[in-house]
Parts: sequence; C-alpha cells; structure tokens
Amino acid sequence: MVTARTPLIAGNWKMNLDHLQSIAFVQKLAWSLKDAKHDYSAVEAVVFPPFTDLRSVQTLLDADKLQLGLGAQDLSAHDSGAYTGEISGAFLAKLDVTYVIVGHSERRTLHAEDDEVVAAKVAAAHRSGLVPVVCVGETAADLEEHGPSAVPVAQLKAALAQTPAGADIVVAYEPVWAIGSGTAATAEQAEQVCAALRDALREVHGAESAGATRILYGGSVKASNIAAFMREPNVDGALVGGASLDVDGFASIVRFP
Ligand code: PGA
Repeated sequence: MVTARTPLIAGNWKMNLDHLQSIAFVQKLAWSLKDAKHDYSAVEAVVFPPFTDLRSVQTLLDADKLQLGLGAQDLSAHDSGAYTGEISGAFLAKLDVTYVIVGHSERRTLHAEDDEVVAAKVAAAHRSGLVPVVCVGETAADLEEHGPSAVPVAQLKAALAQTPAGADIVVAYEPVWAIGSGTAATAEQAEQVCAALRDALREVHGAESAGATRILYGGSVKASNIAAFMREPNVDGALVGGASLDVDGFASIVRFP
C-alpha cells in the first residue's frame, strides 16, 4: 500500500480578511513559520483566501518566494459566458491558484449545491488544471439515521461521477456537526470515516490512486487536537476554518509534528 502522502494543512478563511488584511496576515504567517524553521517539504501549508484577496496574496508569495500554497474557496461549474458573479477555474489558474474547495457544506446548504453541481465543479477544476478539495460530511441527523460513513461515501462517489481515475484530488471529510461548533470529531471517528472514504476511492479509481490521494479531516481543528488526528493512518491533513484566522494558531497547526 502506498503511504507516502505529504500532509496538507489547509486554511479556509471563509468570508474573512480583506485584501489588505490578507497581505499582513500572510507576511506574519511566513515569518512565524520561518522563525520556527518549518520544513515545507514535510508539511504542505495552503491558504484559501476570498476571491478578492487572491491577486494580492499571489503577488506577495511570488515576490518573496514564500512556500505557502494558494487555494480558492469555490469556482464556477462553467468555463466562461453569461454567468454573472461567477469565477472560472481558468481565472484562478491564471493567478497561480493550485487548489480549489468544492462542495463545502456551507455551499451545499446556503447555496443549494447538490451532488450534481459538486461533480460538475470537480470536473471544471480539472479542466483548468486545478486540484479540487472535495468536501463531504454528514449532518447530525444523517449520523443518527445512516451511521457514520454512508453519507460522506455517497457524496464522494457522486462528486467523482465525471472524474477519470488518476485525476488529482484531495478529499476533506468535514462532519457538518463539527464545523464551527468547537466540538471536533474524535480522532477515532475521523479515522473510521477517512478509511471508508479511501475504500470508496479504491473501488472507484483503483488502489494506486486511492493510496496516493490525501484525505483531510475538518471541523473544529485547532493546535491542541491536530496531532491526534495526524496520528491516524488515513488522515493526511486538515481543513481548518476558524483556527486558520489566527497567525500563531495556524502556524502551530502547520508545525504539528
Ligand atoms: P472550522 O471550519 O475549523 O471553523 O470548524 C472548518 C471548515 O468549515 O472548513
């Protein structure tokens, strides 16, 4: 089994930090990681600012040769045309964006994005050369009704409906009940679902692809609980919301080893 997966710590800023604040934040984060002599080859750190910050952050990363990765929080399912307010994958790729979050529970709930839309966005990300961070996760009601893995596994299979085996993806298991609640899943709960998600990847895309794909846990991750998640064999990193908005807190999460 392939286990050489570089851990990925992803900071989802959501609708926080304007472009001026983003510059100060990224500078401080880079200094903090440099001071701690962070080994970027051991852990990949990526920030996901709002669209309006991307150009500023990209310019800063480029000018100072900072080794932080850049991601976006969403993209259009379409490549161009009459889609007022939408942002295409091609626009993001032009800004050196590498990753794009797709199917976050806030998009699914607040913007009615169903499995079909999520699958179309995963395909759109690949058409533009972006790596989608495909978010799946059950609500508390789903957990009660279907158990821990059924809903996330079904969401993942649906999200990959238009994606060929071998296409680069990251999966993020984010139980909806844990997001922003302050109550994370236990490391054992996260491992159980992440292992089921890897089994599903194996079924759909084969063993090689499943072994190489990073599966993150997300939902109230902080400096004090990251190490426990990272000890689990099928958890390859974290998608961090609230705690990614604090420079020192996020730097501590990135430096978990
Ligand atoms: P949280 O958010 O870390 O604030 O729980 C995680 C997410 O929504 O990606």
